[in-house]
Amino acid sequence: MILPVIAYGDPILRKVCVEIDKDYPDLAELIENMKETMTNAQGLGLAAPQVNKAIRLFIVDTSPFASDEELDDEQRASLTNFKKVFINAEILKEEGDEWAFNEGCLSIPDIREDVFRQEKITIEYVDENFEKHTEVLDGLAARVVQHEYDHTEGILFTDKISSLKKRLIKKKLENISKGKVDIDYRMKFPLLKKNKL
Ligand SMILES: [Zn+2]
Repeated sequence: MILPVIAYGDPILRKVCVEIDKDYPDLAELIENMKETMTNAQGLGLAAPQVNKAIRLFIVDTSPFASDEELDDEQRASLTNFKKVFINAEILKEEGDEWAFNEGCLSIPDIREDVFRQEKITIEYVDENFEKHTEVLDGLAARVVQHEYDHTEGILFTDKISSLKKRLIKKKLENISKGKVDIDYRMKFPLLKKNKL
């Protein structure tokens, strides 16, 4: 089932999410629904707070990069197969130089900005079967995971841009909260005024 994506301005996107255990109700179904929702919206990742659950869960699927002509064959191949579920993730280490990548977010449609992040991370998490992993990621895989991980900490990519750019997009962000934006997937807007009968 495709779930509505929570839009910028909703307080759930600002919550520090809580850890879950195996007994979290209907977890497998939630993960399936999140995958469907992400694919339908052509997203590279989706975090639980974006579908109204303040829990430490996010999914990534970088396969859309497989057709990116700016990448070499090896990079494309590794990104095609990078589809994962991250539960109770913790970034243990971030290292390397900061580099800029033009990020977007399904909760913040029509806005893209260059965001600087470090190139390499070490992350510990459990997968959908609650098996524990520790992985080192770099490049675009690390980038997508850093963005989604931030969601579970209540952080959005627009927090990481210059104050000048923040001022320039302020009105656009307000419009997103009010539902004044063109999108082709389901969303829930915090400030959308319902028509009174
Ligand atoms: Zn996002």
